[in-house]
Amino acid sequence: MSGRRYSEPMPDFGLSLENHYAQLPDDFYTRMGCEKVGAAPCLIHANPAAAALLDLDPAVFNDPRFVEVMSGHQPLDGFSPLAMVYSGHQFGVWAGQLGDGRALLIGQVRNAKGELWDIQLKGAGKTPYSRFGDGRAVMRSTIREYLASEALAALGIPTSRALAIVATGEGVRRETLEPGAVLTRLAQSHVRFGHFEHFFHRGEKDKVRVLADHVIAEYFPALVGDHAAWYGEVVKRTAILMAQWQAVGFAHGVMNTDNMSILGLTIDYGPYGFLDGYDPAFICNHTDEQGRYSFVNQPVIAHWNLRALALALSELIPTQALIDKLATFEEHFGGTYHALMRAKLGLTREVEGDNKLIGGLLALMARTKADYTLSFRNLTGEDADWLALFGAGNSEAQAWLARYRARTESEDLSGLNRINPKYVLRNWVAESAIRAVEDHNDTAVLDRIFRILQSPFEKHDGDEAFAAPPPPAMCDLEVSCSS
Ligand code: AMP
Ligand code: MG
Repeated sequence: MSGRRYSEPMPDFGLSLENHYAQLPDDFYTRMGCEKVGAAPCLIHANPAAAALLDLDPAVFNDPRFVEVMSGHQPLDGFSPLAMVYSGHQFGVWAGQLGDGRALLIGQVRNAKGELWDIQLKGAGKTPYSRFGDGRAVMRSTIREYLASEALAALGIPTSRALAIVATGEGVRRETLEPGAVLTRLAQSHVRFGHFEHFFHRGEKDKVRVLADHVIAEYFPALVGDHAAWYGEVVKRTAILMAQWQAVGFAHGVMNTDNMSILGLTIDYGPYGFLDGYDPAFICNHTDEQGRYSFVNQPVIAHWNLRALALALSELIPTQALIDKLATFEEHFGGTYHALMRAKLGLTREVEGDNKLIGGLLALMARTKADYTLSFRNLTGEDADWLALFGAGNSEAQAWLARYRARTESEDLSGLNRINPKYVLRNWVAESAIRAVEDHNDTAVLDRIFRILQSPFEKHDGDEAFAAPPPPAMCDLEVSCSS
């Protein structure tokens, strides 16, 4: 980027930019501009709800300089872009330095609420940490991340957000040549467990402390000076996130320690999947042959990752304190998961037999591979529609429903449709948006799905097909883990 001259003055779009991360010493990142993408980058979609997080007026989406900035062609005035460095464990094995191989921090914005938000471009070209990668991202994975982060946000699950998708106009080589894209993603911080592991495993323990203090001061101000309490808070947030994933039926797919947010956010959407038919052993990542990151394993893996983080913090926090804090995982996870599942069934008063009722439903769903989302959502509809999810004449389903109706006779179920979504981002739905954009340059389907996912509890007359399990032709979609 250096040396390039711009005919227009550089924009800042009125953003309150702060070079916050760059206040760390320079071994935490490399300052650099983006590699130029194709000659004519083109805006595919932009997200007003994400713009609001930055106090950014969505009118800028129509400013030609918006696509220039969000493609990496032009920096924001007042911010010096940088690539963060981190390492991590991949599939349980120490992998050393991993990234950021294709994401650049192009801004940090302080909004009117006082929140600091990172703006990152994912797929904007190589960095010193790209290893063998090309620094690029494909349209397919960019659309998937854009939609999924919006879906989780609307379901109340902590996540990075996405501001825009830009088509680069260039091909990107994966299994085949695919259209390239740049995703603008937002998070209050993109710091990962792997950032701490990076310095610990290089023997640079002082830098672990510098980073911890930086993160605590900005994002956990009430815990300044208490590293153990901060680690405890990370354990708690991670445990709660796992409970939320499990309750909504979301499988991340690549829970390497470099994909674990220090703020307890869902980040780095790859071959993720929302459950269709309930299968606890569901593996959405086809390279995960052992099922390390299967749906049912997610809480256990989160615990494993928190242990890896504890090791990285072991010079900072006494061992016993780390052990004690890590031990709170189960209580936070179990307590939250239990409460969420009770809420999904509308069980407000604790009654003996409730756990059996919940367990009985999950066992029945697993046996029949009943649709996860609809098994809860349809409880508020006609009994016949709910029973149809379990196969015609299923007497176990009939018996469970009779027990449930009796148990909830005196419960108020009128709020259930604000707890159990009608729409989640099923793979086949994401694929429909991708095909329309890739094959027909048509963004209308993407836009429709995007809007549905922003209010997943509403009915959306005319678009109800997107609430359905996959049609036969899209039942066995293989989600490539290349991205
Ligand atoms: P992931 O497990 O997909 O989050 O990727 C692990 C690391 O590889 C991350 O730090 C990425 O930045 C990096 N990476 C993934 N794809 C590419 C690519 N095409 N070029 C450069 N780095 C990449
Ligand atoms: Mg990653």
